[in-house]
Amino acid sequence: MDITNLTAMEIREKLKGKEISSREIVDAHFHRIEEVEGKLNAFIKLTKEEALNTADRVDDKIKNGENLGPLAGIPIGIKDNIITYGVNTTCGSKMLENFIPPYESTVIKKIKNADGIILGKTNMDEFAMGSSTETSYFGPTKNPIDLERVPGGSSGGAAAAVRASEVALSLGSDTGGSIRQPASFCGVVGIKPTYGLVSRYGLVPLANSLDQIGVIGKNVLDAALMLGVISGNDLKDPTSLDIEKIDYLERLSEDVKGMKIGIPKEYFAEEMDNGIKDEVIKAIKLFETLGADVEEISLPNAEYGLATYYLIVTSEISSNMARFDGIRYGYRTKEYETLDELYINTRSEAFGEEVKRRIMAGTYSLSSGHSDQYYNKALKVRTLIKDDFDKAFEKYDIILSPTAPNLPFKLGEKTKSPLSMYKSDIFTAPVNLAGICAISIPCGYVDGLPVGLQIIGDRFKEENILKAAYAFEKHSSLGGEINGL
Ligand code: GLN
Repeated sequence: MDITNLTAMEIREKLKGKEISSREIVDAHFHRIEEVEGKLNAFIKLTKEEALNTADRVDDKIKNGENLGPLAGIPIGIKDNIITYGVNTTCGSKMLENFIPPYESTVIKKIKNADGIILGKTNMDEFAMGSSTETSYFGPTKNPIDLERVPGGSSGGAAAAVRASEVALSLGSDTGGSIRQPASFCGVVGIKPTYGLVSRYGLVPLANSLDQIGVIGKNVLDAALMLGVISGNDLKDPTSLDIEKIDYLERLSEDVKGMKIGIPKEYFAEEMDNGIKDEVIKAIKLFETLGADVEEISLPNAEYGLATYYLIVTSEISSNMARFDGIRYGYRTKEYETLDELYINTRSEAFGEEVKRRIMAGTYSLSSGHSDQYYNKALKVRTLIKDDFDKAFEKYDIILSPTAPNLPFKLGEKTKSPLSMYKSDIFTAPVNLAGICAISIPCGYVDGLPVGLQIIGDRFKEENILKAAYAFEKHSSLGGEINGL
């Protein structure tokens, strides 16, 4: 048995049944990491020693007959913008290359309490700005399906690590699509939970009004398992909400009979890479076969989604990035005589091109004289976009669309044209603007490259998107090779 081929649920069962030990599980995954990491670069940092210690503690618990947490023995990767106490958290940036956080984020506490085993910190676009993991200071991650292609982004390391079986599960963050689009590009499952379901305490913010931590897994069941562990109200995050805790695994069923599904006509009118639309339409037909009611719907403000997202995200970025001043923490230039030079040289030397571009764009749209025209206007359109979804969910349980308009592209193909990179987010960003939830699951392959189906649900209706995703996974048979490894 190759342990690294097991799903998280299988690992859990085999550990409980004493078929394998936690130590064996972790050893097997580090062995796999040694084998493939040189080609992939999915991790910024590995935490082998801590992982082995945790594994031994879990094995002791088993020996002593103690209760095991729901993630017992499961190897997990953490996107490197999630604060880990005592372990470097770089956000993929030179600015934080040597930053060692003095506190723990809530999601990490929850994973540790659940006996999960963290193997390391995964690679990402610098400060989560990007759709290909190419803006990382630590070099790009490659797509395990085709090493010449990008894994998507910004949680590209997290998705690639799961796809390559370096870990069974990983945590990512999603501000405009950064969990779903890499999940789509790597042919795995990714959930962006409803805004407020998972604590953001300890997530280095990209844009506070849009960010959510979520899960990437090999299949729907695994993702549901981890979502159940990390969700829940947290007094340390005032935007997390106190809603009834749901056992997603227990509620998971594959019955979509009578489920009302909306297909937004505006999304399907967008330009896409060849083959994507066909695969998504096939997926929609499968839902019909399974007894769901499918109807075309309209989201009239969809065409403004991307522009609205980029105005809001850059505005919040320009404000968030101000904390990196070379004084409090992070990188500090050696070349300065005045305070201004300290600020300017620090930020010029330690931020990459995309970060600088967004700081400038955001500063402009927030500046007096321009904010009414840009930022304030974007806030108003955001409300219209949210209202479109609210109206749709009065009648429909879920909405289906492609996750991304493109297939995994070649490394370097879009780095010269920020706009073409931004277009990757066209179907995902509106979900963040509206604060609702969505999942991406693999729904087919075009020339060996995966296509993601996005299933969108209303606020705190994760149960609906999981159910639909689970039904699809059960009833579709997908191919897909891991080439190049
Ligand atoms: N690709 C989007 C961006 O660059 C999404 C980022 C994210 O979700 N973190 O802004």
